[in-house]
Amino acid sequence: QSAGATLELSNIHAGYGDFQALFGVSLRVEPGEAVGVVGPNGAGKTTLLRVISGLLRPRAGTLRFGGQDLLQVPAHALPALGIAHVPENRRLFPHLTVEENLKVGAFSKASRAHFEQRRDHVYSLFPRMQQRRHQLAGTMSGGEQQMCAIGRALMSGPKILLLDEPSAGLAPLVVQQVFALVKRIREEGLTVLIVEQNVAQVLRVVDRAYVLETGRVAAEGRAAELAADPAIRRSYLGGH
Ligand code: ATP
Repeated sequence: QSAGATLELSNIHAGYGDFQALFGVSLRVEPGEAVGVVGPNGAGKTTLLRVISGLLRPRAGTLRFGGQDLLQVPAHALPALGIAHVPENRRLFPHLTVEENLKVGAFSKASRAHFEQRRDHVYSLFPRMQQRRHQLAGTMSGGEQQMCAIGRALMSGPKILLLDEPSAGLAPLVVQQVFALVKRIREEGLTVLIVEQNVAQVLRVVDRAYVLETGRVAAEGRAAELAADPAIRRSYLGGH
């Protein structure tokens, strides 16, 4: 396992035009950790990932990865720093095959040198991708596309994987498969930040989580503690 880098957000304020979506959000992901960001629709989870991946400039606050100020780095340079973002809509190339999509993920010169080794690793994580390697990505099921998008992100050899709602729009059985995959990826030591509305599932695969409500961190803690917290159970887990 590589030494890794800590992702650190401090007091982030961000929004769209007159609308403010995040109010002073602070968050930390240590190397090798899996961290969840959960919360209801519109809480600002996607906005938070967009800030981390350089797609949205915050109005205030600091954002560091391995001590480096990410606000000074253009979005296109982030993958080279080891930050891989799997957006909610997946953004696969529908008219390319599974394997061609993986190739696109290995965009840099350094990644191209590791292409076969990483591809084989991705196929070992998702044997179904290997069976479907010549299939056009756009013709695969939602769950297969999600796995392909995660596989593509792994092809760049990232230090941290940012996952935006990987379970969105998937049937319950497929959701389980996607989370099983996330679990395997983190067991291999990759740092993961995962944004999810499916609180029950995500708390089973992460070490810690932050609960975001209307753009603020309403709670944070170890996954097991949050899962046992009466207020969290009432709001998010259908408990009492
Ligand atoms: P969801 O789970 O529904 O994706 P979320 O927690 O990811 O929700 P965001 O997508 O970050 O929430 O949205 C936070 C708030 O910012 C919402 O009120 C949303 O309407 C608003 N918002 C998001 N994108 C834009 C945009 N491009 N322009 C204006 N407002 C936006």
